[in-house]
Amino acid sequence: MSSVIGLTGGIGSGKTTTAALFAARGAGIVDTDAISHQLTQPGGTAIASIRQAFSESLITRDGGLDRGEMRELIFRDSNARLKLEGILHPLIRAEVAHHVALLSTPYAIIVVPLLLETGSYHGMIRRVLVVDCSECAQISRATARAGMDEKTVRAIMATQMSRQERLARADDVIFNDADLSQLERQVDAMHRKYLALAPC
Ligand code: ATP
Repeated sequence: MSSVIGLTGGIGSGKTTTAALFAARGAGIVDTDAISHQLTQPGGTAIASIRQAFSESLITRDGGLDRGEMRELIFRDSNARLKLEGILHPLIRAEVAHHVALLSTPYAIIVVPLLLETGSYHGMIRRVLVVDCSECAQISRATARAGMDEKTVRAIMATQMSRQERLARADDVIFNDADLSQLERQVDAMHRKYLALAPC
């Protein structure tokens, strides 16, 4: 099996952008946000358990998870957040293990926003790669997206690990405060480093 790197970072830090740059260089990418979307789309594996654990109002007419409603709920109610995570995290982890096992790339990167908060991937990953940027850059990048105002972004940041703590727990760090060419340069260097890791 390929060596597995866990890529994480706060909201809007540039995880998806960074992962795409690694993919362009030949890394295998497994994105837990994409898996979570699949699990909660109409007919997704998580829907029956979510329907049972939460009110029917969280399920859309076509049978998928109503993400907006769920986001509102888990901001207000930390028990609801724990309950949702209890359903989704084991399913996501199993899918990640399945996808990683199918890869034949020299190494794999799994993108996990709450990698350090949940600790779910401890036994699976070889190194923790943190994509870091200033809170200011996080807010301006995340609010550029539709439906995200500064208050919402700050509320999400408050549920995530602090920047200092995340950096303290990183094996590798990519600093994404500058432009894309600087990000590419760091990805090039990290890619060379990961290619040199012996498979395990
Ligand atoms: P989320 O936590 O919300 O999933 P993310 O960490 O995956 O976000 P991205 O989606 O990669 O972050 O980046 C957020 C936004 O910032 C995107 O619009 C992306 O194009 C932009 N962005 C990321 N890095 C840079 C950069 N170095 N220069 C300019 N724009 C950037």
